[in-house]
Amino acid sequence: MARKMLIDGEDGPKESEKYDFDLFVIGAGSGGVRAARTSAAFGAKVAICELPFSPVSSENLGGVGGTCVIRGCVPKKILVYGASFRGEFEDSRNFGWETGEVNFNWKKLLENKTREIVRLNGVYKRLLANSGVTLLEGKGKIVDPHQVEVAQNDGTKTMYSAKYILIGTGSRASRVPISGKELAITSDEALSLDEVPKHAIILGAGYIAVEFASIWRGMGATVDLFYRKDLPLRGFDDEMRAVVAKNLEGRGIRLHPETNLSELVKTENGIKVRTDHGDELLADVVLFATGRKPNTEGLNLEAVGVQLDNAGAVKVNEYSQTTVPSIYAVGDVTNRINLTPVALMEGTCFSKTVFGGKPTMPDYKFVPCAVFCVPPLSVVGLSEQEALKQANGDILVFTSTFNPMKNTISGRQERTIMKLVVDAETDKVIGASMCGPDAPEIMQGIAVALKCGATKEQFDSTVGIHPSAAEEFVTMRTLTRRVAAGGKGKTNL
Ligand code: NDP
Repeated sequence: MARKMLIDGEDGPKESEKYDFDLFVIGAGSGGVRAARTSAAFGAKVAICELPFSPVSSENLGGVGGTCVIRGCVPKKILVYGASFRGEFEDSRNFGWETGEVNFNWKKLLENKTREIVRLNGVYKRLLANSGVTLLEGKGKIVDPHQVEVAQNDGTKTMYSAKYILIGTGSRASRVPISGKELAITSDEALSLDEVPKHAIILGAGYIAVEFASIWRGMGATVDLFYRKDLPLRGFDDEMRAVVAKNLEGRGIRLHPETNLSELVKTENGIKVRTDHGDELLADVVLFATGRKPNTEGLNLEAVGVQLDNAGAVKVNEYSQTTVPSIYAVGDVTNRINLTPVALMEGTCFSKTVFGGKPTMPDYKFVPCAVFCVPPLSVVGLSEQEALKQANGDILVFTSTFNPMKNTISGRQERTIMKLVVDAETDKVIGASMCGPDAPEIMQGIAVALKCGATKEQFDSTVGIHPSAAEEFVTMRTLTRRVAAGGKGKTNL
């Protein structure tokens, strides 16, 4: 990873005049579009290629806007909004609302969602056009360090040369290799099903699994969630994971920890699902939410010298430069932190480095994220378990678990939890997490504070907004526990 960065004119490509473009971007997703636009703003002549877009079909995974806009974050969040109304209708009763029979029209939501995606696809195309970027429809293949061949659907192939090439082809859903796996869908299809499932079985317990469990449950489906670990969301703070599990159950999702699926069989009544515990269930939809793989197929990378790592991701240095000096890569295809805003950051840093005359490394410290289950989980910085491994001295843990004010009237039995992890020596807050309503909206501001190096004392001296859940972050005065870092054990105060 610590290869020398290429500075234009040193030992790499020169004389941009001899190329069709200064930059050729393969893949118009979050990272690619950002890099194309910001490079053009620095005066580069830029082209970007992307497969054509079909708003309803999941067969062709193309479309300007990429996974986030077309079949990821945006449509998913629209469905989360749709699903969240169920709880709101329930909660409204004790606030005096008499809503009568509530019906949900999936087709209407689907049409509105598709219309919004088509609109955003157009917005992204206009953004590119207004930045002076040439959009080419087709599949890109790298032929040599300065040439890309673009194949259109009709078979036409055109060759373009560029001083630099940027790979921003993202990732795609992967399926686990069990018998009958072709009967399962992935999130690509899950976003555009003809009907809401009556009984959905989900394999996995990462972001996509718990988000779709909440979506389908909110829309009235019976949902069974199967996963290998004792708790969902491996990698997040254990205390938060336990609360997410409790909340999912509280919302009616049936959890099956430490259970895998072993076989899917098509029957007249649906898909028969066999578990590794020997149980059998019948479902109309089985979703594999078992991770994503970098999208490198057909790019001809290894032939031109672009190395991949063991996970199949493009190897890059701190400046997103691959093992071929004129070829860079950003976003999920590099498998660093696979989140849209991170791909945007990497795209911006790329253009500053290559065309802005200011070598800039992406900064992966304090990247906040959110899981849009209902209620959501959001975190920034270290979990308690990560802090235990990484911190040099003791860490201080402050937690607050409470019944949100709204629940006191609605009667919903669902607690909100917040946690701050503090370096005992410096008093700096090194991790924050929350599971509860509006957690992602609250965490964005907390992320700014952590990035600025805020101390617990500064949190405590900040005046709260009352009454709000967010104010708990500045009123956690009582230490929950002091923990000796380096796995040396715990000291409960
Ligand atoms: P994740 O990597 O988050 O989770 C994968 C899940 O699948 C884990 O629970 C994992 O279990 C399980 N799994 C993997 N292999 C197997 C197997 N062979 N058998 C059984 N279970 C298996 O992947 P997702 O698909 O949920 O999401 C992909 C990526 O997309 C995320 O990492 C994230 O970067 C991004 N994303 C972000 C969102 C957001 O920001 N809100 C929303 C959706 C996606 P185990 O833990 O046991 O390994």
